[in-house]
Amino acid sequence: MSAEKGPNFLEEIIAEDVKNGKHGGRVLTRFPPEPNGYLHIGHSKSICLNFGLAQQFGGSTNLRFDDTNPEKEETEYVESIKADIRWLGFEWANEFYASDYFPRLYDFAVRLIRAGLAYVDDSSAAEIAAMKGTPTTAGTDSPYRERSVEENLGLFERMKNGEFSDGEKVLRAKIDMASPNMHFRDPILYRIKHTAHHRTGNTWCIYPMYDFAHGQSDAIEQITHSICTLEFEVHRPLYEWFIEKLELFPSRQYEFARLNLNYTVMSKRKLLQLVQEGHVKGWDDPRMPTISALRRRGYTPESIRHFAERVGVARRENIIDVGLLEFCVREDLNKRATRVMAVLEPLKLVIENYPAGQVEMLPTENNTEAEGAGTREIPFSGELYIERDDFMEEPEKKFFRLAPGKMVRLKSAYIVECTGFEKDGQGNITLVRARYVPESKSGHDQSGLQVKGVIHWVSAAHAIPAEVRLYDRLFRVEDPSSEEGDFKDYINPDSLHTITAAMLEPSLREARPGQYFQFMRKGYFVPDTESTAAHPVFNRTVGLKDAWTKGKG
Ligand code: ATP
Ligand code: MG
Repeated sequence: MSAEKGPNFLEEIIAEDVKNGKHGGRVLTRFPPEPNGYLHIGHSKSICLNFGLAQQFGGSTNLRFDDTNPEKEETEYVESIKADIRWLGFEWANEFYASDYFPRLYDFAVRLIRAGLAYVDDSSAAEIAAMKGTPTTAGTDSPYRERSVEENLGLFERMKNGEFSDGEKVLRAKIDMASPNMHFRDPILYRIKHTAHHRTGNTWCIYPMYDFAHGQSDAIEQITHSICTLEFEVHRPLYEWFIEKLELFPSRQYEFARLNLNYTVMSKRKLLQLVQEGHVKGWDDPRMPTISALRRRGYTPESIRHFAERVGVARRENIIDVGLLEFCVREDLNKRATRVMAVLEPLKLVIENYPAGQVEMLPTENNTEAEGAGTREIPFSGELYIERDDFMEEPEKKFFRLAPGKMVRLKSAYIVECTGFEKDGQGNITLVRARYVPESKSGHDQSGLQVKGVIHWVSAAHAIPAEVRLYDRLFRVEDPSSEEGDFKDYINPDSLHTITAAMLEPSLREARPGQYFQFMRKGYFVPDTESTAAHPVFNRTVGLKDAWTKGKG
């Protein structure tokens, strides 16, 4: 991609740094997730960028869990994040935890106090907020701002020792309550939380704030390029202030525009609500925008990496059409997916002149789009299932499939001519009759017949019944978060359509998650993680064409 488009601004910066021998030409990036949820497609952009840039310049990438918020963080999330990054195809040089740096961060805070650059404030959260001022008016100094170094050292130590309760005191940097940058108005560095941490347990009852942990963690690891999303741009001066005052390794922060997708919510807080309130079945429900859901749905790592490349990196916010993500997976699966026959809405087709009890094994191509994909054999017999909508009692004008007196080709098999049908008391078609043309066998066609339609089928006696899940977008509006009311009011009530009795060709009995299929004419499918031999379950990853813009848009 970069070859087509020219280098992006981050590539230019890093190339320049490497050329100038900055940090000895070394490139070390980091991906810093907070383990408070599963990774989503937005994170994959950051992952591809951080890992991809390091690879490109012969460097490496640390995985750092930004775990400074004890209430929301869990080991389950840590494990899922690692699995997702590896699945995307990346490996980190080191696995670090911001919580491992708690002792050093504490020492940094003590150094700031000693330098007269931090103080303990007894004001309440509300009082601190009120003293903050506004972007156009200066804030006011806290009455505790002029405490002596000795007093601050003593109080901070007592904070650490658990002598105060939550919210009773905070440690603040002493910078400038009139700064035009609100983040410079004596930002909070530490707060008291008597909450067990997923790694440090009850060792600490004071926890550093993001701004005091992130840059210092970068510096401790000697990160050369700290790449984050644009909302941190206003934090950058503070990031640099701490590094300068503490005389740390000069890591530098660079910002890019976060990925936004339409018809999707991406904040972990909102995704957690969807899970906790039962709007979806879990973090990996295939309708979710999480990496684990996309994997379960049948997305390949390559398709997600290509998507990240196509989206590119810029410093301007925009909203990407989710159709681009679907395009990327379709493009990848086209080369990868084995073509199989599966009938989603089965209708019995009886071939009257096919010898009773006979079964033929007919060769069929696995994938004509992939060289060397080979062939397999599928059973053909006198009783098949075809799609219900491949038959019409009274065909429309351009209907080239089965109808009384009409001919159609059965894919990889024979031409058949419809000779009749049966109905139940409600007028539903229950069975279609046909005759086959023995000389029309695929690959050996001597019939001289020309038919326009080709339909898929499965042999009734050999078919395996399966559950098939078809998905639609989880939200019915482009930007659920900006609509009036709650974003959950805009959930699409028809985002999941379950077919309980589809009929699949028998080769699918052994299919496992991670194998990719095209159900001919129906889309791309994968076995679900819940699928078993006794109860096969398949997910539709994506249709063959963009049905949304065509049918509904
Ligand atoms: P969310 O707002 O979705 O909860 P977050 O930013 O709090 O996400 P983190 O775990 O802190 O999530 O993010 C880890 C890294 O991923 C950060 O560097 C963050 O900037 C980046 N990131 C998060 N969301 C996106 C996105 N939509 N596009 C690109 N990068 C993202
Ligand atoms: Mg965050």
